[in-house]
Amino acid sequence: MDKKNQVRPQNRLFLKVYINYAIMLTVLAVLVGLIFMNLYEENIKDSNYQKLFKQATTISKKLSQMIINGEEDSYLEYLTILDDLDVEKTDVYTISNPKANNPMDKDFENADLENIELPKDFTEILDKAFHNQIDHSQDYYEVFGGVSFIIGVPVRVSGEVVGAVLLRTLVANQQEIVKSSMSLIFLSVGVALFISFVIAILFARGLSSPISKMRITALELADGKFESKTNIARKDEIGDLARTIDILADELKENELERQSREQARIDFFANVSHELRTPITVIRAYMESLVDGVVTDEEKVIQYYSRILMECKGMERLVGDLLVLSKMQNPDFVVEKEPVNIVQVFDDLIRSVHAISIEKNITIEITKDRPVYMMMGDYDRLRQMFLIILDNAIKFSNVNSTIHIILYQLDKLIISIRDEGVGISPEELPSIFDKFYKSKLKQNAQGSGLGLAIAKQIALKHGGTVEVNSTLGEGTEFVFSFQCLENYVEELNI
Ligand code: ADP
Repeated sequence: MDKKNQVRPQNRLFLKVYINYAIMLTVLAVLVGLIFMNLYEENIKDSNYQKLFKQATTISKKLSQMIINGEEDSYLEYLTILDDLDVEKTDVYTISNPKANNPMDKDFENADLENIELPKDFTEILDKAFHNQIDHSQDYYEVFGGVSFIIGVPVRVSGEVVGAVLLRTLVANQQEIVKSSMSLIFLSVGVALFISFVIAILFARGLSSPISKMRITALELADGKFESKTNIARKDEIGDLARTIDILADELKENELERQSREQARIDFFANVSHELRTPITVIRAYMESLVDGVVTDEEKVIQYYSRILMECKGMERLVGDLLVLSKMQNPDFVVEKEPVNIVQVFDDLIRSVHAISIEKNITIEITKDRPVYMMMGDYDRLRQMFLIILDNAIKFSNVNSTIHIILYQLDKLIISIRDEGVGISPEELPSIFDKFYKSKLKQNAQGSGLGLAIAKQIALKHGGTVEVNSTLGEGTEFVFSFQCLENYVEELNI
């Protein structure tokens, strides 16, 4: 698979994260904006009302005072008051109440409303003010050129409503404030979206870059590059996943090494088998040719040739036999048929068998045991074969007139030690002696195939046991076996 990221741009994690984030932010901003606008509008309306109400009542009180004091001429002062009240954006109407017993002097009137067609609200508010009531309204009025807010308060002198003060202001001014506030809100949303875009890029990158790194590692692993690692050190779930991939990589690498070594072992095995068979076949063929061609006619020589051929055939038979046993033992499906076996009996049998060859080198076989019987579960013939290989080697590599010590004892396991006083094995060779076809260059090995110890080890393993070797060059070698013992069985036998 291509290592390039094949996720379409619109499906990229970054874009998805950002779009979700942007939608969330916009919805939130619009909602907050709407709520804010509403509250703001209400607030402005309210404070407008409060402000205009205050202004109207102040003007009304001032007017009453001026009427009482007869200050008709203080029109300038009156204007100053209006200025002080900051009502330049507000129209002030002071109107005399025609129905009053002592209506406000016309000099205090500033509005000539005769020729203007006033909106209904205006006249109603004015009428209410003449009836000593405060009222207000907000609406669109053609005559005032937009949305206006109107408030009317009475002007009282000695308990009588002598006139009214009406204030009118264009609401458009307020709406402009709201509008500019809204544009500020939208500007903030824009800036927030931009900042969030940068944050989203960093966040999505922090998320997608380890993912694509893991993807590349996985592809490399699939490609057989087992040394590949994610090298991501994070404490979150992504880090967990990366660590899992690294563990997987380690395991794949280990498996690959194992597979390679198994493959090498298989190749070596075939090479060894071919080599081991080729040598005797070449010898047999050469001898047979000499006989068939009549090159060798001397009777003694002919017999010598036949014996050699027979010896080579026996060697091949032994080799093929050993290979068969080994392949059987190595088959994981092969199960040894176990029965209670008395190991002492096995050794008695063995010592009898090797008596002839041990006597040739005047070797004494000494068996030490503190019980007459050591029981274990196993296959008698296989166990005999296993100990025979060890004993055979021990005799082979022992010096003349020496002793082979067999010691049996039981701890929580049954331990069998076979020690010779022979040539010993060098520390370099020691780890290889259980390998198939391994044999040293010693002359005693001329006949060996190097399969003996490999077979012995497999038999021990098939019996759930272990085998270890200790050796000192020139002093001797000890093989130590350990097996599960059959204590209960012995007790049952009541020996
Ligand atoms: P073979 O089947 O040819 O006898 P083994 O597998 O039994 O081969 O032994 C492998 C090698 O282990 C031998 O070539 C020898 O070098 C070494 N070896 C085994 N037993 C002994 C021993 N008792 N003393 C010294 N060397 C030994």
